[in-house]
Amino acid sequence: MSESATCDFLVIGAGIVGLAIARELSLNYPEARILVLEKESAVATHASGRNSGVLHAGFYYAPDSLKARLTRDGNSLLRNFLIEHNVPVRECGKVVVTSDSEQLPALDELARRAQLNGVNVSMIEAAELATLEPRARTVDRALWSPTTAVADTTAVADAMMRDVTNRGVNVSLNEQVLRVDENTVTTSQRVVTASHIINCAGMYADRIATMSGVVHPYVVLPFKGLYWKANLPAGFLTRHVYPVPDPRNPFLGVHATVTIDGSVKIGPTAIPALSRENYSRLSGLQWNEVAEVFINVPKFLTSSHHSGGQLIASEVPKYLKSQLVAQAAHLVPELTPQMFTHQLRPGIRAQLFDTVNKKLEMDFVIKHNEFSTHILNAVSPAWTSSLAVARQVVAQLA
Ligand SMILES: Cc1cc2nc3c(=O)[nH]c(=O)nc-3n(C[C@H](O)[C@H](O)[C@H](O)COP(=O)(O)OP(=O)(O)OC[C@H]3O[C@@H](n4cnc5c(N)ncnc54)[C@H](O)[C@@H]3O)c2cc1C
Repeated sequence: MSESATCDFLVIGAGIVGLAIARELSLNYPEARILVLEKESAVATHASGRNSGVLHAGFYYAPDSLKARLTRDGNSLLRNFLIEHNVPVRECGKVVVTSDSEQLPALDELARRAQLNGVNVSMIEAAELATLEPRARTVDRALWSPTTAVADTTAVADAMMRDVTNRGVNVSLNEQVLRVDENTVTTSQRVVTASHIINCAGMYADRIATMSGVVHPYVVLPFKGLYWKANLPAGFLTRHVYPVPDPRNPFLGVHATVTIDGSVKIGPTAIPALSRENYSRLSGLQWNEVAEVFINVPKFLTSSHHSGGQLIASEVPKYLKSQLVAQAAHLVPELTPQMFTHQLRPGIRAQLFDTVNKKLEMDFVIKHNEFSTHILNAVSPAWTSSLAVARQVVAQLA
């Protein structure tokens, strides 16, 4: 490996966050040499191509969090980008429903957060829910979010990739970053020196941060999300239907979403995976990652910050389609296992676990040193927030 190269900005990872940051860099520094390195043979191979495709509105998150601000802003930035690039967006909105009266205080808390976060929602009576989404069921009231939408993740990533390459960004596929020394990276093909490195490596962002000399207490704990798609006529559901999430965990719970073509899909689960890219059975198993999971999952299970044991006990049975559908039927009672004929590609969340405080990190985390910036915990809704994350990160470089 004798080849070496230089550039102004080096972005590691061509998921949606890396591409959005490369785009924002090219808008702010039109003359700069921007290089994106991606270990896979295509963009958005991992979380950015394996998610629910929901443009979140931003009402779930604590008002002082990055997630709250960057999701609210990212929702409109991404929508505008997609409209400008002729990528279809289905403006279906979303209803959050309760399955028993004990969930009503948590539903009210979501409405309170929406107000503090500057997100437009309204609390509706069960009778109004029957007009908005007749197949959904709630107890007493539901939350209506008109700015939640959906798009096709592949179409979104392709549009972002076209846009960055048209702006002169060089995206190098099949090139894995193996080592980082200050502002120089060694890849599977060459050595590259950059004025500044931006780590958007998703599942491996914690490792790249450590290699870069950034001290942090985190390790990625991978949580797998399984989905099933229904064989139902388009229009069976017209709105996304979500449960009230357990605020102790960073997951939103199994939901029923309307896809861009009007179909219905249910999922995702939140089951610990054995490795970061262990999408099915033995695929992607890395023994060092399995060891990391076995060391850290017990810490999560015994943590006072989360209902870990309860989460695992309720999630693992959802490997069975019947159990997953039973969960979704709390939201839409007509759903039956027979309707769900195809399993979709699973996704895995790059969820950070704070090994010192034994806590899943709830917010996005952005760390810097003299040579590099690190986007950690780019879990949901970082797909929605990507363009707003990019604005914030690039503004901080100035
Ligand atoms: C099941 C599931 C459902 C979700 N639903 C939603 C949703 O509905 N709405 C929403 O807004 N968000 C959702 N999310 C979250 C969303 O998918 C992520 O926040 C977003 O995709 C993160 O993008 P990213 O670019 O950081 O990560 P990724 O897409 O994982 O990209 C990181 C890239 O870095 C590359 N890489 C890693 N290591 C290296 C290396 N050493 N060298 C070179 N390249 C490397 C990887 O190959 C990968 O392509 C969901 C996530 C999951 C898993």
